[in-house]
Amino acid sequence: MPVSSNILMWFRADLRVADNPALHRASIDAAAAGGAVIAVFTICPDQWIEHDISGVKADFILRHLRELSADLAKLGIPLLIESTPRFSDVPALLVALARKRGCNAIYWNKEYELNEVRRDAAVAAACAKSGLRAVPFTDQAMIEPGEVRTGEGRFFTVFTPFKKALYRIIEERGGIAVSPKPKKQGDTGIASSPIPDEIKGFTSHVGNAASLWPAGEKVAMKRLEAFCAAKITDYKLERDRPALDSTSALSPYLAVGSISARQCVLAAMEHNKGMLDGPNSGATHWISEVAWREFYRHLMIGYPRVCMGRAFKPDTERLQWEWNEKHFAAWCEGRTGFPIVDAGMRQLIATGWMHNRVRMIVAMFLTKDLFIDWHHGERFFMRHLIDGDLGSNNGGWQWSASTGTDAAPYFRIFNTFSQSRTCDPDGNYIRRWVPELADLEGGDKGPIHDPSELPPLARTRLNYPEPIVDRTKTKDRVMKAFQSL
Ligand code: FAD
Repeated sequence: MPVSSNILMWFRADLRVADNPALHRASIDAAAAGGAVIAVFTICPDQWIEHDISGVKADFILRHLRELSADLAKLGIPLLIESTPRFSDVPALLVALARKRGCNAIYWNKEYELNEVRRDAAVAAACAKSGLRAVPFTDQAMIEPGEVRTGEGRFFTVFTPFKKALYRIIEERGGIAVSPKPKKQGDTGIASSPIPDEIKGFTSHVGNAASLWPAGEKVAMKRLEAFCAAKITDYKLERDRPALDSTSALSPYLAVGSISARQCVLAAMEHNKGMLDGPNSGATHWISEVAWREFYRHLMIGYPRVCMGRAFKPDTERLQWEWNEKHFAAWCEGRTGFPIVDAGMRQLIATGWMHNRVRMIVAMFLTKDLFIDWHHGERFFMRHLIDGDLGSNNGGWQWSASTGTDAAPYFRIFNTFSQSRTCDPDGNYIRRWVPELADLEGGDKGPIHDPSELPPLARTRLNYPEPIVDRTKTKDRVMKAFQSL
């Protein structure tokens, strides 16, 4: 082995230089050994297709890589882009690259999806075989997934006790700390790779994604600051009102890692007297939402079967879901005749993102009113979301389908119209995404929430579909199916 003192920093879902634990440590260790950091990102198109990564997310990643490459260049760190079809090719690729670039170690921030965990174990094994150090760091969660356990050492399956234990551990460990940005290093003489304009097999379905979702950690930080300054205090009151844009819309940035959960929580704590659970109910509630993301990461480690398409509650795998191609197509295209559902699905298609309350409504509608297997909805979401994230998406779908941990009980089925009246009282969200209904009145009795109540002639003029199912009958079907388990 030639003597080498460089370190290969393998970027994945952590596309930022600030508060990046692996990059920070790599920079210190390389400098101490008289070497340099060389960064790499691996694109695995076939694997990404299998994981249902959406075109709009792939494009978001590429745009982030461009920003990251420029930010790293200012620190003297070259970013290399390697492409190989599948995760199974990655260990050999990285070991060969490390050797070629005089690296004695590969550093990375951990991911928790099962295939990613297996890939990383294979990389670590290949490193060990080749005399390279493999050094993983905790980044995506405030406490390493798997470490927050019940008194008996078991994984929590209910969110609230999990959150309490999480907060206690954070406090016992002295709070949340962020890693400083790495120092500038000397010239390595290695040129950064050009960032591809596209990845074969991925086309973004969102035409204006670059203006809706500009890339980079500076953008993400500005969004966080703006949200904390203007919206966080009212978050608890307004978070379920999709017309108000009252949430942070940071999920795409958290998904690619251009901002960290730590940065988010610390910023929120500044508005909460330095506390996780403090006097500002908006900030307290928002931190708790970030903790949901963390909960789902712990679950992926505790119950990896959720990463393999399995239901968290095994008995629910016996449910005989019904397949109806026409109903599924109507749901996907936002023409079910249920305005709040159609508004949500059209927002997803137009922007790659959907408000959380509406995600719950459309997911509950697909699984309970249409009684279509949640896997279909989960996949459609992943293929269209810019913030697609296995843990949160699977968790949200299994919650809605009542097959998951801490899920909605099967008998508590959302009434789509009541949900619509409560979360979109004026009908402005519906108006924005379902323009056929823009002239209908909102309010408690307004027909915008259920135009099927209008006289036939008025309905015909709307050019809007009739409801594809009769809600009064669908509840029976799902109740019977769950009761028979
Ligand atoms: P905010 O309300 O500002 O919350 C801040 C952050 O907390 C979010 O960015 C997100 O990271 C986290 N968060 C908030 N709510 C949840 C939640 N219920 N579960 C987990 N994390 C949460 N989130 C994803 O990031 N990716 C997904 O693929 C995804 N799929 C979902 C599918 C379904 C069926 C449901 C019901 C929810 C899903 N969520 C998903 C969770 C949630 O809808 C989004 O995180 C949220 O809408 C993002 O908007 P925001 O950034 O404005 O959130």
